[in-house]
Amino acid sequence: MIDLEFDRAHLWHPYTSMDNPLTVYPVKRAEGVKLYLENGQELIDGMASWWSMIHGYNHPSLNAAITDQLDDMAHVMFGGITHSPAVDLAKKLVSLTPAPLQKVFLADSGSVAVEVAIKMAMQYWFNTGVTDKAKLLTIRKGYHGDTFAAMSVCDPDTGMHDKFTGVLPQQYFAQAPESRFGEPCQDNDLASVRDLLEAHHNTIAAMILEPIVQAAGRMYFYSAEYLTKVRALCNDYNVLLIADEIATGFGRSGKLFACEHAEISPDILCLGKALTGGYMTLAATLCTDEVASGISKDQGIFMHGPTFMGNPMACACALASIELLEQSDWRGQIASIEEQLRNELTLCSKEDAVNDVRVLGAIGVVEMQEPVDISTAQAFFVEQGVWIRPFGKLVYIMPPYVIESDDLTKLTNAIAAFTQR
Ligand code: PMP
Repeated sequence: MIDLEFDRAHLWHPYTSMDNPLTVYPVKRAEGVKLYLENGQELIDGMASWWSMIHGYNHPSLNAAITDQLDDMAHVMFGGITHSPAVDLAKKLVSLTPAPLQKVFLADSGSVAVEVAIKMAMQYWFNTGVTDKAKLLTIRKGYHGDTFAAMSVCDPDTGMHDKFTGVLPQQYFAQAPESRFGEPCQDNDLASVRDLLEAHHNTIAAMILEPIVQAAGRMYFYSAEYLTKVRALCNDYNVLLIADEIATGFGRSGKLFACEHAEISPDILCLGKALTGGYMTLAATLCTDEVASGISKDQGIFMHGPTFMGNPMACACALASIELLEQSDWRGQIASIEEQLRNELTLCSKEDAVNDVRVLGAIGVVEMQEPVDISTAQAFFVEQGVWIRPFGKLVYIMPPYVIESDDLTKLTNAIAAFTQR
């Protein structure tokens, strides 16, 4: 039996208090799209372990990739040493991402990949003699991670800015785009980006945003044309563009990378979460030759090098996960999940308690009128046999791509029942 009393007394869980910890559910095993609780209950997982477990749990190919690698070596330092899992993964990432992205930094987690991206942008300008460009521009309602530089570009109201006043670097925030995905970009959405660039481009190193899907900040899908125009504005004002595809990368929005919806290529790209099929913590930051050569000019070096950089098991797992994705009909899977989510979730929009329903790729969102009490909601969903963890007013799912239609219906039925309580 898992010692829940010890857990409650000693273990931090994400975003919780130690005085009043929320209920946690003991999971014993996971297989395919299901979590098996210690009490024998089965839950269909609508969260894919926070966007990452795209092929489902306990997948034989991913298990084999890790155990095979384990026979050779679990880990080896990356300073002064290299190995084929890292080289083969980097080759794959360079071949899949837009052509200008040529250089790969293997990081430990999404937040670290964002830190690395920000450092790259700053070092690029600094090392090419432009010493004033050290600030960042971003859009409101975004989320980029929990480390300090990443927090500084999370939404200033719903992010953690009030907890670290005076410590977080001050960045520039443009209005969040309201023009919806599939619609043209309204000019007022771009106005604040344009105004901030016009006024401050001399001090801005980069603009960072989540392409198309503002995920953990608000689960919103914005106009592709907005992103195309932001890319053009960054070019006009000589500001680098960092695309944070940690949540969207590897098919979630219906394209392999969400930037493809807008046909743009960033200067720096962050990947994580689904990179290893959700198996292991690994992320990657890619940049262009131009950024890399700016950083490296006059014997400049890029100043980051974590202990577990390029962990061979994580790299082998990532490569196996990407190959699995390539061999699968992921486009077909996502298209049918999208169609089913549209058909089934749209019915929720007639409920008084519901403010908005939106779907893109394998992401389904029901925005309630009022904030949801997470503990009550969690208990309700567990009773329904599903794992769905809302935040704020948002009840959302992004299941593993391999989910069968019947199981997806169980998820959408549970959400419908929640909206009718
Ligand atoms: N960027 C985005 C867009 C994310 O969604 C997340 C995680 N929710 C992060 C960065 C941070 O990743 P990690 O939790 O792996 O540090």
